[in-house]
Amino acid sequence: MVPDYHVHTPFCKHAQGDLAAYVDRACHLGMKEMAFTDHAPAPDGYDPTNRMDITTFQNYLVAIRSAAEARPKLRILLGIEADYYPGCDRFLASWLTDQPFDFVIGSVHYLGEWGFDNAAYRTVWETVDVTAAWAQYFRQVAAMARLGLYDVIGHLDLPKKFGFRPPPKDLLEMAGPALDAVAAAQMAVEVNTSGLRRPCAEVYPSLDLLRMCRDREIPICFGSDAHQPEEVGYAFHQAVDLARTAGYRHRVVLCRRRKQYVPLI
Ligand code: ZN
Ligand code: FE
Ligand code: FE
Ligand code: ZN
Repeated sequence: MVPDYHVHTPFCKHAQGDLAAYVDRACHLGMKEMAFTDHAPAPDGYDPTNRMDITTFQNYLVAIRSAAEARPKLRILLGIEADYYPGCDRFLASWLTDQPFDFVIGSVHYLGEWGFDNAAYRTVWETVDVTAAWAQYFRQVAAMARLGLYDVIGHLDLPKKFGFRPPPKDLLEMAGPALDAVAAAQMAVEVNTSGLRRPCAEVYPSLDLLRMCRDREIPICFGSDAHQPEEVGYAFHQAVDLARTAGYRHRVVLCRRRKQYVPLI
């Protein structure tokens, strides 16, 4: 089974289960490698309830190191999911490079003050111009790529989570410039299976978007976005099939923020 490159821990305050239970699940599935990528701290006060505190970060490091020592047959990578929002670089630009990360997932979870993928604010979707919201989202993805701080784009078409989408042609057209920026930044895109567990009932990104990534030679990895141990490796066979259908034959392996490519089997 391909490695799971997107796994949370209880340090973010909204994931369940011991870190060891996530590791056990990966071993049980026969994974040789996995990565913890919990929500990065934001000392500026951005969305504090959904991330670890800066004071907890050291515990996160220690917990992952001891899990790795307890399971020498499983390669456990140290990752982080860092949000992009205007001004995030004031902290992230120095902090990310000071840590021994194997890779950094960049994610957009907010449009202005609106946590658009938060179920508590789902109904806001009924009051906004859906196409304009997606356009703003992809502009932020492009800005995130241009910042050059991240290695992997998280859940590329996250705004589809609750099923609010512009006409397909418009969506792909808006995504084009963002994906050009992702390709120029030599970032990877993750094939994230958490969308299958949401109302949209689809992998992030869609097959059409994944084909656009392939056209631009953007590398891919796979992530479950597990927030509980049972979700590790969730629907990975389906995700790999989707990637193959999109034309992918390789996946990226990350280590100390460098990329290598291995055949997709
Ligand atoms: Zn989360
Ligand atoms: Fe996320
Ligand atoms: Fe996540
Ligand atoms: Zn996520």
